[in-house]
Parts: sequence; C-alpha cells; structure tokens
Amino acid sequence: MSKIAFIGLGHMGLPMARNLLKAGHDLRVYDLVQAAIDELAAEGATPARDAREAVNGAQVVITMLPASRHVEGLLLGDGGLLESIAAGSLLLECSTIAPESARKVHAAAKTRGIELLDAPVSGGTAGAAAGTLTFMVGGEAAALEKARPIFQAMGKNIFHAGPDGAGQVAKVCNNQLLAVQMIGTAESMALGVANGLDPAVLAEIMRQSSGGNWVLERYNPWPGVMPNAPASKEYDGGFMAELMAKDLGLAQETAQVSLSSTPMGALALQIYRLLLKQGKGKKDFSVVQKLFVE
Ligand code: NAD
Repeated sequence: MSKIAFIGLGHMGLPMARNLLKAGHDLRVYDLVQAAIDELAAEGATPARDAREAVNGAQVVITMLPASRHVEGLLLGDGGLLESIAAGSLLLECSTIAPESARKVHAAAKTRGIELLDAPVSGGTAGAAAGTLTFMVGGEAAALEKARPIFQAMGKNIFHAGPDGAGQVAKVCNNQLLAVQMIGTAESMALGVANGLDPAVLAEIMRQSSGGNWVLERYNPWPGVMPNAPASKEYDGGFMAELMAKDLGLAQETAQVSLSSTPMGALALQIYRLLLKQGKGKKDFSVVQKLFVE
C-alpha cells in the first residue's frame, strides 16, 4: 500500500483514482471541482483542500490534467507544486502534454530529487473504469519498475517508450492515428447510409473486413450502432473534441521538430478545429460524425 496523492479527477482521473482505492492504496485527492473530490471521499479517499495539502506526506503523486499549460502551471515556477513534493517521491504525470513540456518538467523534477515519469494513457474512459489502460512511459527504467504496481492497478499494458518525453511522443503518434481512423470511419458510415445501407449492417461489414479498426470495434460514431458508445448518448462523456484538437496540435508541433510530413494529421487538426468553431468542443470526439450528416 502506498500513500498516493491524485490531482485531476476529470473523465479519466476519477475512475483511475477509484481503481487505486479498490487496490487498497491510501489516497488523498484534489481537483478544482469540489464535486469530484466529494465523490471519491464518499468512497474512502481523503479530500484535500488544495494541491499542496494533497501531496503532503505522499510517496507517489499522480497528475491527470487537461494540457501542458495546466501541468506547467501547477508544477513549475516559484511556489509550484514541485517545491512541496518530497525528494525521493515518484511523480507520475499521466496527462497528454507536449513532449517539450514533459522534458521541462523532468528537468525541474530532477533538480529536486523527484523521480518523474511522463506516462500518458490510452484506452478512453471505459479503459480507465475497467482498469485496462495502456501506459506509454518516458523516463528512467528504474523509476518505471518502482511505479509498475501503481500502473498495474489502473492499466493492463505498460510500455517503456524511451527516455524523458518519449511517452508523450508515443501518445501523440497514437492519437493522430486515432483521429484519422475516426474521421475516416465517420465519413464511410455517412456515405453508406446516404446510399441506403442500414448503419448497423454497414458497421459490422466494415468491422469484419479490411477497413476494420479500433473505432469500428469499440467506438462507432453513428448513434445507436453501439449502445454504450458516446455516439448513442448524445456524444456526451468520453474524450472531448477539444482535447483531440489539442493532441493533433501537439502532433503537428512534434512533426515540426523532426520536419516529418504528416498530411493526414494536419487535415484531421483542421477538421477538429472546425468542430470547435461549431461549439462542439465539449462533446466526445466521435461528434465529427455530424459534419458528414448535418
Ligand atoms: P477532464 O477535463 O475531464 O479532466 C481534467 C481535470 O483536471 C478536471 O476535472 C479539472 O477540474 C482538473 N484540473 C485542471 N487544472 C487543475 C489544477 N490546477 N488542479 C487540480 N485540478 C485541475 O479531462 P480528461 O478527459 O480526464 O483528460 C485528462 C488528460 O488525459 C488530458 O490530457 C487528455 O488529453 C488525456 N486523455 C483523455 C482520454 C479520454 O478519453 N478522456 C483518454 C486518454 C488520455
């Protein structure tokens, strides 16, 4: 059992924290949203009044925040949270942020003797709830071995992607591919339905044919095809389109560093920006389906 501070109890953080509680860890939790803290406190976590109180006495600190600016804003600078985390602790930064930003936080953590891993996740809210997330880890292999039991309480596949920031590079590559698959699937679903096919029949044909992919397996964007997918719940819950747009922006920034050619990622980013302009940023990213039918 470890003393763990968990900061950021949103769509992903809350179910991840819940799995740590179930595994018997001593959890202190904090979020800007009081209702999220209250929900976990009712299940046995200790509520904290602020992030500093949450990390006091913790051996492991986990952060699950929206984007680079939130992570840097919380951890870095004068009065930043790194100053309150004890030397020798493990800091598992699980948000999806810029690789460059992750390396900045790694460098600052090292100066304070804190072992940091960048450890973004894949698997969505369903994977977070089921404890089957994939962790893509950047940092020292020895730190990963210490963190492994904690990751195992929340996930199934734990990959060491490479040195500091490598977890984030793997994550932006994965999410760029996911966005392209989602848009392609939505476009094909709309094409078939516009030409008289039943969406459920088309979905099953493509799932079992050469177009089969993760979106068709678990996350069909057409309402009603999969009762538990966000598409069948007014596109609520899941992974917000604005977060996908953020990740596609990170992929473009990462491509700029290596001068890589990423035309599909660039187009996907433009399509998600369009959705944001339409006010759909808070909806699940499968809401891209609407672009092809409305
Ligand atoms: P979310 O917006 O639902 O949750 C983020 C939480 O962080 C919110 O509850 C917010 O109040 C809290 N927060 C922000 N700043 C804070 C601060 N300074 N102190 C304390 N709490 C703070 O986002 P999410 O969907 O849970 O995603 C979190 C991260 O995981 C993102 O980087 C996202 O890209 C990534 N991710 C999400 C999914 C998904 O399916 N939702 C899947 C994989 C990865």
